[in-house]
Amino acid sequence: MDLYEYQARDLFTKHQVPTTSGAVCTTADEAEAIAQQIGGPVVVKAQVKTGGRGKAGGVKLAEDPADARAKADAILGMDIKGHTVHRVLVAEASDIAEEYYVSFLLDRTNRSFLAMASVEGGVDIEEVAATKPEALVRMRVDALEGVSPALAREITDAADFPEPIRAQVADILVDLWRTLTEEDATLVEVNPLVQTPDGTVLALDGKVTLDGNAMFRHPDHEALIDTEGTDPIELRAGELDLNYVKLDGSVGIIGNGAGLVMSTLDVVAYAGEEFGGVLPANFLDIGGGASAEVMANGLDIVLGDPGVEAVFVNVFGGITACDAVANGIVQAMTMLAERGEAVTKPIVCRIDGNNAEEGRRILQEAEHDLIELVETMDDAARRVAELAAARSAGK
Ligand code: GDP
Ligand code: MN
Repeated sequence: MDLYEYQARDLFTKHQVPTTSGAVCTTADEAEAIAQQIGGPVVVKAQVKTGGRGKAGGVKLAEDPADARAKADAILGMDIKGHTVHRVLVAEASDIAEEYYVSFLLDRTNRSFLAMASVEGGVDIEEVAATKPEALVRMRVDALEGVSPALAREITDAADFPEPIRAQVADILVDLWRTLTEEDATLVEVNPLVQTPDGTVLALDGKVTLDGNAMFRHPDHEALIDTEGTDPIELRAGELDLNYVKLDGSVGIIGNGAGLVMSTLDVVAYAGEEFGGVLPANFLDIGGGASAEVMANGLDIVLGDPGVEAVFVNVFGGITACDAVANGIVQAMTMLAERGEAVTKPIVCRIDGNNAEEGRRILQEAEHDLIELVETMDDAARRVAELAAARSAGK
């Protein structure tokens, strides 16, 4: 989960990484009030989850509160690389003598963490990496050893930070590393880390990516979830702990196991070609040991997507055998009816694997009007695409 700059800065402050004071707001009026409170020049910064805001005109200095209002007015509503600006951060403006770059990130390829640092910050770091690779220091960080003051000092020496601020930067690196580990982040990046004319070092812009799988350890991170920028169905699925990703097609997909669901998406897209390009509407993996309740929640989410015309439930029985899954599907239909959800969309089921025959028998005997059982994955994909296309055409 990527955070907004203002959220990243809040986490920095929590872990003693120095930054400037400021507050976030959604209107020009509020921006003026915040600037008033700060007193003195401020910087008004678009809060969007993309880099290069400065170049796009989304970061502007303001002399006084009236100017802050005008700058906020210009930035709010702006489109930056396809992201509409709904919020601005109004922060105390800094005088900048030099701009640097520092980051820590999870380096999956090398199964370790990576520290990066450069005295050529402020600008696009990818560009520095491409045109002047020697100016970007990369150093491996052992996950168990972490960033000791000694390693932090090694990083600042290798990157050749100016001698008078090396100790300050090393302290900041240790605190940034604590931010990464204590918050379960996979990335913490500061660009620019600045030196002010009086020799103080500050984090002026921050990017933090939190590990979504560690959310259960951080109840306070729930408040950081972006409710505006996320699809409402994905948000609800997240509340129900379902692994759901919204796509654009008309065939709702439910499967058990991520690999099976991914191949189901391919098979449906392929079968859909014959029916004018019918595509999957989502990815939803309800997991290996899915209960009737999880199946009901899954069906509820998928059927609640207005784009869905037909649903494909693709189950491969493993540890949870097919009869249990079939009972789950039947019970799920009852649960949905009890919840007052009128199910009107056809559901094609393919059930295979452990105890498949018993599973099929249970579904057949349930004789549910909307449930259709198809033997193979290819045939089921073809059938569900056909049903979705027919319902779309009937509209
Ligand atoms: P980005 O373009 O999205 O990375 O946004 P940044 O927050 O990094 O801002 C871009 C640039 O604006 C920085 O590299 C600075 O040069 C400048 N900038 C940001 N904040 C301030 C500030 O408080 N004072 C001054 N003088 N410049 C700033
Ligand atoms: Mn930046």
